[in-house]
Amino acid sequence: MSPDGSAALAAAPVDAADPVVAQARERAADIDAGREDPRATVRLAGDLGLLDAPLVRVTGLVEEVAGECLSTAFSLWAQRMVLTYLRTAALHTAAAADGELIEGVGSGAVPGCTAMAPTLRDVAGIAPVPVVAERTSVGLRRHGPIHWASQLYPDAVVVLPVRVGEDPGTAERAVVRIRLSDPGVQVAPAPPLLALDATASSSARLDGVAVAPDAVLSTDLAGFVATVRPTFLLLQTAFCTGLATRCVTDCAAHLTGVNAALQPDHDELGARLLDVRRRLHRWAARPDEPDKAGLLRLRLDAATVAVAAARLEATLRGGAGYRSGSAVARRLREASFLPVQAPTEGQLRWELSRCA
Ligand SMILES: Cc1cc2nc3c(=O)[nH]c(=O)nc-3n(C[C@H](O)[C@H](O)[C@H](O)COP(=O)(O)OP(=O)(O)OC[C@H]3O[C@@H](n4cnc5c(N)ncnc54)[C@H](O)[C@@H]3O)c2cc1C
Repeated sequence: MSPDGSAALAAAPVDAADPVVAQARERAADIDAGREDPRATVRLAGDLGLLDAPLVRVTGLVEEVAGECLSTAFSLWAQRMVLTYLRTAALHTAAAADGELIEGVGSGAVPGCTAMAPTLRDVAGIAPVPVVAERTSVGLRRHGPIHWASQLYPDAVVVLPVRVGEDPGTAERAVVRIRLSDPGVQVAPAPPLLALDATASSSARLDGVAVAPDAVLSTDLAGFVATVRPTFLLLQTAFCTGLATRCVTDCAAHLTGVNAALQPDHDELGARLLDVRRRLHRWAARPDEPDKAGLLRLRLDAATVAVAAARLEATLRGGAGYRSGSAVARRLREASFLPVQAPTEGQLRWELSRCA
């Protein structure tokens, strides 16, 4: 069973997310402009017990927040993923169960950075993980690049894959955690982005970073990915559908006059979105039910619908939406991230073609 499949955690009160969604709405423009970042809202979600809530509850939260601010929804996804990695490791390896760290990430006090895109590529057989580790008398020492990661705040805990040995064909793999403050970690200045500028997204370089045995979360890369995949893809789907729902809903008031000609497009998008959301909510309540292909298809469908919905909204809103500071323009830029995020649209299509 996945760590999020258990009903062990009590459901948060139904209206507990309201302050989180309201804060995301209030701060969206400042976050988009890079004047604020999403940490305060992640922390608020932690204080309300929402980061650690059952998956179906977090899915609803991420969807609602994505309708207001994708940067904040994306940060909630990253935070919950790191919590899921730590809990998954603790289920299997007593040594990896660092209660204080789990509590810090679960409360939002310690930022969680999921540098796991290379893990997905390695397990899919696309490319080996780029960080190489060598064994020492006290654990592992790592060298190599993190090409992209978000939530690269100075006090963050970073979860990433390594291969133990130079030869990708024979090297063992492991998932490990480090702190960004560890000696040997160098973060590059964040490059200006099309959107998500406030998510502390950049690259990093590891030079001889030491990993103690209790910081090794798993040595079974494929097994680890299989366990966390439902949470990973369902919450990514949630921020796609949250954005799409906002666009499709806001479109409804602008299908008048000549724009009535776009009604069929709106109807078709609405039907596709409903289908994606039905699958999402069903599987968020039963994350063990879908197979890998079902999850990959869902994530692909969600990103495709979101990109189309943001485009339709921009088409309907004309010049008002084309103003760079408008929420319509922000959503158009935010949506452009969805096919780029790992698993990328190319990877999803490639993997699905091999699942047939
Ligand atoms: C703002 C931002 C935030 C991010 N945050 C995170 C994060 O928190 N965690 C994280 O893990 N990653 C993060 N990423 C990375 C992201 O998830 C993707 O891995 C990355 O955007 C893929 O683009 P790339 O150019 O780095 O990689 P590439 O793998 O070089 O992909 C470039 C293109 O080539 C395709 N491609 C990939 N492999 C092959 C191949 N073998 N042959 C041919 N084509 C291939 C891809 O589908 C894509 O279209 C972030 C990226 C951005 C832009």
